[in-house]
Amino acid sequence: RDIGVDAEGVIPEKVSRVGVVGAGLMGSGIAAACARRGLPTTMVDVEEKALGAGLGRIQEVIASRIRIGRATPEDMASALALLSTSTTPANVAGSDVVIEAVVEREEVKRELYQRMKQHLGPNTILASNTSTIAISTLAESAPSPERFVGMHFFNPVDRMALVEVIRGKETSDQTVATIVALAKRIKKTPIVVRDCAGFLVNRVLFPYLSEAVLLWLEGAAMDDVDRCATSFGMPMGPFLLHDVVGLDTAFYASGVMNQAYPDRSVKLDVLADLVKAGHLGQKTGRGFRKHE
Ligand code: NAD
Repeated sequence: RDIGVDAEGVIPEKVSRVGVVGAGLMGSGIAAACARRGLPTTMVDVEEKALGAGLGRIQEVIASRIRIGRATPEDMASALALLSTSTTPANVAGSDVVIEAVVEREEVKRELYQRMKQHLGPNTILASNTSTIAISTLAESAPSPERFVGMHFFNPVDRMALVEVIRGKETSDQTVATIVALAKRIKKTPIVVRDCAGFLVNRVLFPYLSEAVLLWLEGAAMDDVDRCATSFGMPMGPFLLHDVVGLDTAFYASGVMNQAYPDRSVKLDVLADLVKAGHLGQKTGRGFRKHE
């Protein structure tokens, strides 16, 4: 049977428990999305401090929904009751799906997958939230390439419906179908895409972001560029978006895109300079712009 890229018609596996590795901006958002939809979720990070901050962000997201009448204090209590945190990767054992959301560095992800091999059961699906690194490349280090897939959420996770599901060379139909069903269960809108560096969204987004920076380097004001982008319908302009994403993440992701598409992607030294100076965007109070 010819299934097609989206594995439509394949029966998904049951997902009763989710593990999330990396409790940063994205990992905490993904863990919140799962727990808010009734899934027992374990969030793991190497840093105790990151777990505390991640939990704080989750509480803040739900609290802000309560303030606008879109959630109740009971929703907060039930989501938090389903969430557990740990600095021990072994604690994701028993999850049907483990979503990796650690830094955008290939060697860190590969090393993590090698270490996770001993903790993941033969039926566990490992999904990466990588923004840019080709899934078939990362699959070389995954415990099982057939059960390895991209599950790319967007920031902020509680507001962005889209999830790219990336099918690597060896990803099975069953894995794709299960991740599509999981995305729908947590009220996201999955699209299944083929594998390449940057997938679909970031191949389109990166040229836009780097052209904006080039405009600024050529003398345009950041405010003008951001205002212009919002006036033609973007929820925020490219400089603010850089700062929301995190300049460290943008820098690592740009490196992947520069390597994959050397003929048509721009290497921006200014990103490296800002990261070196510790200006990582909203998370440090300063990136391209200053933040309160
Ligand atoms: P972040 O820096 O906010 O968080 C990364 C977390 O991973 C940190 O808390 C760090 O302590 C933890 N970590 C690092 N190595 C680890 C390991 N070996 N085991 C467990 N935890 C580890 O980064 P982020 O913005 O959340 O990005 C995470 C992933 O999501 C990256 O692959 C990134 O490309 C992708 N992503 C980011 C965005 C965005 O807008 N920031 C959007 C979509 C996808």
